Amino acid sequence: MDNESMGFNFNSLTVHALQEQLQSGATTSVEAVTSLLAAIAERDGELKAYVTLDAEDALAQAAEADRRRADGEDAPLLGIPLAIKDVLNVTGQPCTCGSHILQGYIAPYDATAIAKLRQAGAVFVGRTNMDEFAMGGTTENSSLQVTHNPHDLDRVPGGSSGGSAAAVGGGIAVAALGSDTGGSIRQPASFCGCVGLKPTYGRISRYGLTAFASSLDQIGPMTHDVRDAALLLGAMAGVDPMDSSSVDCPVPDYTAALSGDLKGMTLGLPQEYFVKGVDPEVESAVRAAVARCRELGAEIREVSLPHTEYAIATYYVIATAEASANLARFDGVRYGRRAEGATDPIDMYGKTRAQGFGPEVKRRIILGTYVLSGGYHDAYYLTAQKVRTLIRRDFEQAFEECDALLSPVTPTPAYKIGEKVNDPLQMYLGDMFTATANLAGICGLSVPCGTTAAGLPVGLQIMGPAFGEEQILRVGHAYEQAEAGS
Ligand code: GLN
Repeated sequence: MDNESMGFNFNSLTVHALQEQLQSGATTSVEAVTSLLAAIAERDGELKAYVTLDAEDALAQAAEADRRRADGEDAPLLGIPLAIKDVLNVTGQPCTCGSHILQGYIAPYDATAIAKLRQAGAVFVGRTNMDEFAMGGTTENSSLQVTHNPHDLDRVPGGSSGGSAAAVGGGIAVAALGSDTGGSIRQPASFCGCVGLKPTYGRISRYGLTAFASSLDQIGPMTHDVRDAALLLGAMAGVDPMDSSSVDCPVPDYTAALSGDLKGMTLGLPQEYFVKGVDPEVESAVRAAVARCRELGAEIREVSLPHTEYAIATYYVIATAEASANLARFDGVRYGRRAEGATDPIDMYGKTRAQGFGPEVKRRIILGTYVLSGGYHDAYYLTAQKVRTLIRRDFEQAFEECDALLSPVTPTPAYKIGEKVNDPLQMYLGDMFTATANLAGICGLSVPCGTTAAGLPVGLQIMGPAFGEEQILRVGHAYEQAEAGS
């Protein structure tokens, strides 16, 4: 299937290419959105990437964008259609977070990232599937539907932003937004063959992003190429009075950093990320990408991040502790669904949560409550916070001698639907190379770096220091362009 419709090829159509076509008058937003909706109608039956689509509303937004352009406006994303992970609030749209508990909830406001994109002219086409409350790595934990990998329908698209990744990788979105708490943008991007960027903690406001683990969550773009990731990052970044963790540091023109070469850069290979257990096909694809970066002028150096082995344990203590607090608000009182037939408020909270949350969310609330409880708080939560500091220091040290670090995104390519869903620990181990960037608060980019013999995409991870997005985008872009030209 080529997803070609009215001259658009959504397998590869980028934001920047569509921008040019819209600016030159070669096409209109209504034309682009109409044919995108046709591509979705044709292919989403098998991918199941979208959970909500409102064609009429999308076309009305597109028509409005075309009117604004006719009036002489030229906002940077005017008329560009985007798919949004179902964890972000968009005024007037449902926001299920992949959960039954938010059934019937309609967002009364825009998340700041959404408001900024709206200001820049973007059109919000539809909402994408996700693991419930962003907990998971396959999108199988969604209470709504199972999403399929566009490169092999029997396999998972990754998660938790699996719907966004399948939509972009499957040619039924121009670009999408995801959220990343421990890898949820980068891992599905690598499974589905698209670009995914987790910005530095504080780079994009999280106001209006349904909180999973507040000290780890970030919003980021999922795109067909690195230039689009740079464009969308620039449109969303910046300090926000509504999110006290957002940082007031200048927002550069990220596209200006895309020089196409790596001269003068030092790139590190963390030895703990090239270990036994990494699929040999993944390792060889990543090593070939490293060789390419060397050809492009980078100096390659081995580095060590000695506390890597504690990352998964640390992440799953901190993330669940924060989740247990954040999810307390879903009790049937203010948001979404309320259980019927309760005898008193306590009974109502209990029934609503018992019926509304799926098994993985319950497992994490129980674990998070346990690690915060009296007598265990110091042994688990406090210890995890200390180890987190050690992990952050490992990176600070590595970035004293390197501009960025290269590694696999995940130890394996996409696996079969159902293969790991009953083995949560095995699933958690898949986050070992991504959760570290969230713990350290730094930025990470996933860029496709070839496929396995079976045709499954592999991702190259490029991690940079806090607010080092320009460096990692430069590396990703130079690599991607060199591959495209070879
Ligand atoms: N797979 C990880 C988890 O299950 C990461 C999720 C995320 O980044 N939202 O927690």
